[in-house]
Amino acid sequence: MLTESITYLQRCLQIQSTNPLDGEENVAAYVYDLLTSHGIETEWIEVSPKRICLVATIQAGVSAVHPKTIGFSGHLDTVPVQLSEWTKDPFGGEIEQGRIYGRGASDMKSGVMAMVSMMLELNQRDDLPNHLKLLITSDEENGMTGARHLTERGDADDLDALLITEPTSGFLGYAQKGVVGVEVSCTGKSAHSSSPQLGQNAIDDLYRVIREIKSDRFTITTHSHPELGPVVASITSITGGEGPNVIPSQAAFYMDIRTIPGFGREQVLTALEEINQRLREQDDSFSMKVTVIKEIPSCETDSEDLFLHVVATTMESIRRQPTRRVAIPGGTDGAMFSQAARSFPIAVASFHDFRLAHQIDESIPLSEYEETIELCTRLALHSYT
Ligand SMILES: [Zn+2]
Repeated sequence: MLTESITYLQRCLQIQSTNPLDGEENVAAYVYDLLTSHGIETEWIEVSPKRICLVATIQAGVSAVHPKTIGFSGHLDTVPVQLSEWTKDPFGGEIEQGRIYGRGASDMKSGVMAMVSMMLELNQRDDLPNHLKLLITSDEENGMTGARHLTERGDADDLDALLITEPTSGFLGYAQKGVVGVEVSCTGKSAHSSSPQLGQNAIDDLYRVIREIKSDRFTITTHSHPELGPVVASITSITGGEGPNVIPSQAAFYMDIRTIPGFGREQVLTALEEINQRLREQDDSFSMKVTVIKEIPSCETDSEDLFLHVVATTMESIRRQPTRRVAIPGGTDGAMFSQAARSFPIAVASFHDFRLAHQIDESIPLSEYEETIELCTRLALHSYT
């Protein structure tokens, strides 16, 4: 079985699926054919013509008592390749001294193919204690539109638990920060620069907003999570002005805010509205608008949760060392799935080394792939009642 699983992973690495270029649909087609040719019911879901998600299900055996629906999820898109710097073919799936190389070897074609391998093997059994649902997403690296689409369709609504096999080097991720990206714009009134008093300078107004954000009165960054740390906010771009001798009527900046559970979009908008009120009290022609451009929720699973405990102890028994629980600094599709109609525990874990994710000569030891297949299989077969 392992030999076949390695061949599947090699084949998967040989199909380019760098985001935002083309190819995600080709790797999805490969996995779809693999699942359906083994008799696994799989749905082909087109998010957009080149962005495909797959949902594959296996029902529990008829003798199962109180079966749970255990979800497994991963993405098939990868980040681009800096070709000239690679010493291995990034789309070769080469194996050398027990390591497999290729873009996505760590993040996260190995994770996806470990789950697919588990599904192929368990589909042959008729005594499964749980329903198994594999959710394969597109576009995780850019906008998580695949996971968002599946969540909106209700594909995660029947889950009792979800494992996301992102590379975590054997750590167990249970919480992650979110992102709120806002554009703050000021609208003034243009005038000739020789008579600024006839206009309303939007850049001056925007500067006043920035001064408020940099002052002690803007308190969003005092909110903190014990593991994820504080909310952080950065102004990352700025635009404005119409010409060298025109009082600007438009100016805007973009602010990226990394959020924590309990502090998200609503709290960011409230804090900015307070600034708006304060500045309007000082100048009634001041005009400021806030537009939310990006929103990825933060999420957290209760550390006492049974599923997290089962994942941790299963990892411990495979590796024979304690499993460290960690907050994930970056985002995963779990953020989107956490918005499903029904809430369920989400664990982000695999044995795949994350240190080479997104790097030159991305690779993992095949032993980690074998351990991750084992993890998925044991979690699928565990009785959670
Ligand atoms: Zn990833």
